[in-house]
Amino acid sequence: MKNTVAVEDIKLVDLKAQYQGIQEEILSTIKEVIEEGTFILGRRVREFEAGFARFCNSPFAIGVASGTDALVLALKALEIGQGDEVITAPNTAAPTAEAISLARARVVFADIHPETFNIDPKEVKKKITRKTRAIISVHLYGQPAEMDELKDIARTHGLKLIEDAAQAHGAEYKGKRVGTLGEVACFSFFPSKNLGAYGDGGAVVTSDEKIAERVRMLRDHGRKEKYLHEIEGHNSRLDTLQAAILSVKLKYLENWNERRRQHAHYYDKLLAPIKGVTTPKVAQGLRHVYHLYVIKVEDRDLLRSELKEEGIETGIHYPHPLHLQPAFSYLGLGKGFFPRAEEAASKILSLPIYPEMTQEQIRRIVEAIKLNVK
Ligand SMILES: *Cc1c(COP(=O)(O)O)cnc(C)c1O
Repeated sequence: MKNTVAVEDIKLVDLKAQYQGIQEEILSTIKEVIEEGTFILGRRVREFEAGFARFCNSPFAIGVASGTDALVLALKALEIGQGDEVITAPNTAAPTAEAISLARARVVFADIHPETFNIDPKEVKKKITRKTRAIISVHLYGQPAEMDELKDIARTHGLKLIEDAAQAHGAEYKGKRVGTLGEVACFSFFPSKNLGAYGDGGAVVTSDEKIAERVRMLRDHGRKEKYLHEIEGHNSRLDTLQAAILSVKLKYLENWNERRRQHAHYYDKLLAPIKGVTTPKVAQGLRHVYHLYVIKVEDRDLLRSELKEEGIETGIHYPHPLHLQPAFSYLGLGKGFFPRAEEAASKILSLPIYPEMTQEQIRRIVEAIKLNVK
């Protein structure tokens, strides 16, 4: 039933609400950058990289053009390519798998843990062949994957461990920040991520100086000096303007993440009594930063349309596991190959979450769910 009281719609993410709090600082920064006249690399990019590395407790961060490119350049810096296999989860954003192909390696999927939705180390083990060179563990929705187990597997089989941390800026695994848990970590600054630019952006984070140096070359046509190209690279620099914007936002990230966590805990509490709703399960000792707040319900599509009627926007991340997407049909996989990822895809629902939302909005969302889930 359509709500007759005049209430504002609730969006899944509201970037305008964030902008309202930082508007003056953002606009004066943009003005400064344009007046300075440096638009490619330079001081502003170096400053952001240093700040973001500090945020991750890691020595090196290299700004690149997108999260997708962060993954491609990380793979290339690790010299993974033709003939190599890379294992990742099928319930991720397409870029995770695309990056593997863009680096000319082969995508291999492994099924997920049904409760955390992250890749299941036991399933990873089953997929290892002589050609396997790396694992990309996605910290899905902002919760770190089971890194100790994955690290053990990587060590035993001589594999590289790459973090896809695009949804997990500031998340922690047993007291350690995401970005320090593998050989290399890849972040996205897509506008809606926990730290988002006003356009595309990404970063590679690592404690290995050689990898850092190689990524720095790869993002800028394979050079260190202007006209000396040591390797064939990419044009994948983080825009100076975006770096300056990100430096402003980085100051607030810790606080924004805390607010996301408070909202998630409030949702947890209010949703707990509703029998048909499964709230997110956080493994012990982890700091989840709730890029997304994802519940599971039996009749997901019905609930989604009922909430829409009430002016509440929701999302599905992601409606189709990648092994069922046309783009990956060449892998020869199909329905039934990854039953847990497929089951999750049919029941997950992302509820609105962003730092600026209010407890009142959360109460309204939960009330609407209560009316529609038995
Ligand atoms: C957003 C995202 C990416 C890609 O980032 P872009 O900046 O959009 O290229 C990769 N992996 C995951 C899990 C993501 O959520």
